[in-house]
Amino acid sequence: MSALLILHPGKERALFKRHPWLFDTAVARLDGHARPGDTVTIQAADGRPLAKAAYSPHSKIRARVWSFDVATIIDHAFFKRRVAAAVARRAHLPELAGQQGLRLIHAESDGLPGIIADQYGDTAVVQLTSAGAEKWRAAIVDALQKATGCARIYERSDSEVRGLEGLEPVTGWLRNTPSPLAGEGWGEGEPLIIAEHGVRYAVDIVSGHKTGFYLDQRDNRRMLAALSPGKRVLNCFCYTGGFSLQALAGGAASVLSIDSSQPALQQAAANLALNPQLLADRAHDVEWRCANVFDELRRLKAAGETFDLIVLDPPKFAPSASHAERASRAYKDINLLGCKLLSPGGLLMTYSCSGGVGLDLFQKIVAAAACDAGRTARIVKRLQGSADHPVDLAFPEGEYLKGLLLQVD
Ligand code: SAH
Repeated sequence: MSALLILHPGKERALFKRHPWLFDTAVARLDGHARPGDTVTIQAADGRPLAKAAYSPHSKIRARVWSFDVATIIDHAFFKRRVAAAVARRAHLPELAGQQGLRLIHAESDGLPGIIADQYGDTAVVQLTSAGAEKWRAAIVDALQKATGCARIYERSDSEVRGLEGLEPVTGWLRNTPSPLAGEGWGEGEPLIIAEHGVRYAVDIVSGHKTGFYLDQRDNRRMLAALSPGKRVLNCFCYTGGFSLQALAGGAASVLSIDSSQPALQQAAANLALNPQLLADRAHDVEWRCANVFDELRRLKAAGETFDLIVLDPPKFAPSASHAERASRAYKDINLLGCKLLSPGGLLMTYSCSGGVGLDLFQKIVAAAACDAGRTARIVKRLQGSADHPVDLAFPEGEYLKGLLLQVD
């Protein structure tokens, strides 16, 4: 019998809407004993059982729901079912056909709070960010190996949010068996190469961002390729060249890529070298520039440069709503400069991956930027994360990535 987490009166509303987070302020008391990650039954003040959840005494998110059916037993078999369902959910998505890099488990939106798993070829990378995920580590890893057949599983549980759950960072191999694809003796530091829409990228699962690559932009990178023929492209915050290489693959006339990280730019150049077909005889049309985007956009403007297609994919300026105001100014600044640098009729592909800035606010910021630039901007398309990053409607926080493709007159 699991311990009971009993709520204050009226605090069951979010759970009724099937939102999987229970905040500490909703909790009246714990009946019984539970250690971090243990399964508890959440109970309304009037005694109604509401959900089975993972208890996290150190976090403001005091419990994360595994199941809204209190009869569900949370055991190895539960994780086997949920993980298999997440993998199966992606099996027939047309966008994923032939992809070597994909997200297998998207945490709350796949019914597995605190659990992320990405696949790169025959290697899976897991990130466990909650006390519940930590407790069930062995079951999750077993289930992942069974569902994917991956020869190797690497752990990248070094995200800052683990600290909020009272957990230390953990990284390293969880499974590392020889495989026919990569042979034996596969160690840390060796490049892992994936093909995405025909373009090869090295993925650094050990020290790259996230689990090594921004898989959430895969479908948008493909769209960029389709928009690129003949265009002078500017890719801001290029990281390891994700968008830049797709622009070249799509036939861009030139691509200038900016990032403030020298190692990221080195990796971007190395990624280009993995795709000699993209370069052919036009090395002079490709430039990786190490600079602060905020400064460099101003310099480009002062120099009278223009571009036909600009990508703005900055880092998370607002991790939470409390940072929204400062983040808004940063988004406004780069979008204003982006609009000014576009040739008439040019395209702006602009993103925010900030949880603290919602779609409405982001659109308002970009509208104000276009207005201040004295330009008319029309939405060609709203953009979101790739198809393997589903959003559970009950969990709007899952929709962190939002973007706009704008035509700017
Ligand atoms: N578009 C990329 C992901 C971008 S991640 C992709 O699809 O793979 C954000 C990048 O912004 C990081 O590489 C980081 O080094 C860079 N960055 C952060 N702040 C910056 C700044 N002020 N100027 C330039 N680059 C910056």
